[in-house]
Amino acid sequence: MDIEIATIGGYEEVGRQMTAVRAGDDIVIFDMGLNLSKVLIHDNIQTEGMHSLDLIDMGAIPDDRVMSDLEGDVKAIVPTHGHLDHIGAISKLGHRYDAPVVATPFTCELVEEEVDDEQKFGFDNEIIRMEAGETMSIGDSGQVELEFVNVTHSIIQAINPVLHTPEGAVVYGLDKRMDHTPVIGDPIDMDRFREIGREGDGVLCYIEDCTNANKKGRTPSENVAREHLRDTLYSMEDYDGGIVATTFASHIARVKSLIEFARDIGREPILLGRSMEKYSGTAKRMGVDFPSDVDMIGYRRSIDQTLERIMNDGKENFLPVVTGHQGEPRALLTRMARGETPYQLDDGDKVIFSARVIPEPTNEGQRYQSEKLLGMQGARVYSDIHVSGHLCQEGHYEMLDALQPQHIIPAHQNLKGLSGYVDLASNQGYTLGRDIHVTTNGNIIQLV
Ligand SMILES: [Zn+2]
Repeated sequence: MDIEIATIGGYEEVGRQMTAVRAGDDIVIFDMGLNLSKVLIHDNIQTEGMHSLDLIDMGAIPDDRVMSDLEGDVKAIVPTHGHLDHIGAISKLGHRYDAPVVATPFTCELVEEEVDDEQKFGFDNEIIRMEAGETMSIGDSGQVELEFVNVTHSIIQAINPVLHTPEGAVVYGLDKRMDHTPVIGDPIDMDRFREIGREGDGVLCYIEDCTNANKKGRTPSENVAREHLRDTLYSMEDYDGGIVATTFASHIARVKSLIEFARDIGREPILLGRSMEKYSGTAKRMGVDFPSDVDMIGYRRSIDQTLERIMNDGKENFLPVVTGHQGEPRALLTRMARGETPYQLDDGDKVIFSARVIPEPTNEGQRYQSEKLLGMQGARVYSDIHVSGHLCQEGHYEMLDALQPQHIIPAHQNLKGLSGYVDLASNQGYTLGRDIHVTTNGNIIQLV
């Protein structure tokens, strides 16, 4: 059976992930993401009403025109998890394919919210919920099967999809870290990866998340960030002024920890900001392991009313969890820093960034500005209470050992970022150009 991999997006950047695997006549697409930084660099662009070709020209969504060079029918679009760089282009490109979106329930909910907001294109693809550990037959040959293996990442219900073919398995490895004690959900299913590496014809190809491939060591568990956060908040138990926290709105496990520790130190947590309400509201609706009795407020006017109430009742009784961890100019924390909200920061008030700065000049500049403005109001900044959602080098070695793939395609980075992975795979006996395929967007690699 012919096996081809089309590397469509995310092979020259972190963002706009998209890869297609053809097995005989059947094609499965993994991820269809948005490169948000290409949108945010232009002030005030609303993508909802934009045409896909304009977004492709901006480099914001994958250029999927290479799909016409693959001979076969797309049978499924499979986003691995709900981050925008993996689902954010489904609303723009999904309708071009007569195929269902297949994902875990939380990811499906987020995809549905994305396509509901879309104004330019209609979307009537079926959306099929499939849990980690489940499989689905692909096409009519009876020889190709899709499996979801549970992984751990900075958003709940992440999976690595595996396409089983008569030539071996194709494992799509974006995005994960190896977490044996996640705060929500099950640990990464390393037993299953080891089985896949050893059963039948083994692993034909492994497409790997190289975000942290240049970082030594091992990515800690979410539990480490949780304990760091606990230690930080407990140390503030006797403080009788304002404490404000910010983190990735989509990081449900982190938001859960913030809510729990706020209550432990006698403060009422309130989630504020549009994306806080969106992600946490979805988690609450779906009944995942998340506090269901916390207030979430998304609209600006209601937010300002709530902040006024907090000031009247005494800010020492509350812990607002807000948007703005990257210093985004329109996010709530940045508005607070500029003194544009009813929330008054005083000398010694604490601001907790449970996030790292995404290493990109725009983010770095905006975050610098936000922290400076907070400091000018007298706030004390606690930064980097965080662990990454991506494997570092030791995790990559472990994955290679578990899967023992014949071919490797490094992804989810630019060329510089991929280099660390090429080095470590070379240490394990792989050779660049023979069985390590470093590539760019818009190429097709024929494996069989
Ligand atoms: Zn991700």
